[in-house]
Amino acid sequence: MFKLKRYYGGFGGVYIPELFIPILQELEENFLKAKKDKEFKKELHHLLKTYVGRPTPLTYAHRLSEVVGAKVYLKREDLAHTGAHKINNTIGQALLAKYMGRKRIIAETGAGQHGVATATAAAYLGLECEVFMGSEDVIRQRLNVLRMELLGAKVIPVEKGSGTLKDAINEALRDWAERVKDTYYLLGSVVGPHPYPAIVKYFQSIIGRETKAQIQKFERRNPDYVLACVGGGSNAMGIFSAFIKNRETKLVGVEAAGRGLNDLHSATLNRGEKGYLHGTNSLLLQDRWGQVKKVHSIAPGLDYPGVGPELSYLAESGRIIASSATDDEVIEAVKVLSQSEGIIPALESAHAVAYLLRESGRFKKNEIIVVNISGRGDKDMEVIMEALNEQS
Ligand SMILES: *Cc1c(COP(=O)(O)O)cnc(C)c1O
Repeated sequence: MFKLKRYYGGFGGVYIPELFIPILQELEENFLKAKKDKEFKKELHHLLKTYVGRPTPLTYAHRLSEVVGAKVYLKREDLAHTGAHKINNTIGQALLAKYMGRKRIIAETGAGQHGVATATAAAYLGLECEVFMGSEDVIRQRLNVLRMELLGAKVIPVEKGSGTLKDAINEALRDWAERVKDTYYLLGSVVGPHPYPAIVKYFQSIIGRETKAQIQKFERRNPDYVLACVGGGSNAMGIFSAFIKNRETKLVGVEAAGRGLNDLHSATLNRGEKGYLHGTNSLLLQDRWGQVKKVHSIAPGLDYPGVGPELSYLAESGRIIASSATDDEVIEAVKVLSQSEGIIPALESAHAVAYLLRESGRFKKNEIIVVNISGRGDKDMEVIMEALNEQS
């Protein structure tokens, strides 16, 4: 039996072949035990502080605030080790794997960012690591393959299907079913079957707790807005989680409108319908026949056709506002943040900045806005350069 609630409104659940049910139950049981274990929590806190570099700062964006006409603060996940928020989750789950006595970690990766964050945590904790990656993605993301290998992980190219993320997930699941005794499957976002959305949210909620304490210190109150980009939804759930009960704080999830909402995009909360993907029930981009749609975003971490079940519920119930930004708006946002604050954001994070710039008319002078800068843009320089060249 599962102990935690598996559903968020009508979303969530465990929609996966039966042989995985006891495996997921065991995972939930150990997660609940670890969460209450003083030693586990002490070690997690220690690693976040001395390895990941937490707490990450909350930076007041002076010049951007003038442009926007409100008080803008940036939560600096770009300053976490490896340059993004993903490490919060991979360090947490790798520690959980160790707690469960597993010696080997497997993961799936699309653009390679989750693979790199997993390989990093595995190296630090001395765990064996294998990352499944679609063969097309292996070619497209050579640098991340190199990073993973340098970190001591084995990258397994998946030739099946279209050679992309969904095929990599299928292979990782197959491997897990065969080697569950010594293997931990480390999932990268608040998606997949229960208990993964709950586990990933737990490890990412440090972003929201820190933000809340930091803004209280600066402003003595909660923010009026919290903005975050949404791919699978882990950085958004991480920062939103501390504010969901504070009704006065508006929570905005910004998805990838890509080439436009009537063209190729990956704005699942905006345009998705209820469906099943990778073991869960959530909003999902589907065509007329219920087939998973082709998605696109200039940001490699946002082009996923699904989205977390809890975010699906929060959007449906109106607690969060689902918005989006196009590729062109995102490039402009990268430029503005770089030149006004000296911070080059990841293309993913720039979606939240793009919303801030486009919607600046709706903010009042004394309103406080926190933007989650989920990662840094160094990894995106080639794409940014190409886009800027096309413009000129
Ligand atoms: C992977 C990634 C994202 C998207 O993932 P979420 O689970 O939606 O947070 C966003 N920003 C950066 C920098 C990423 O690497």
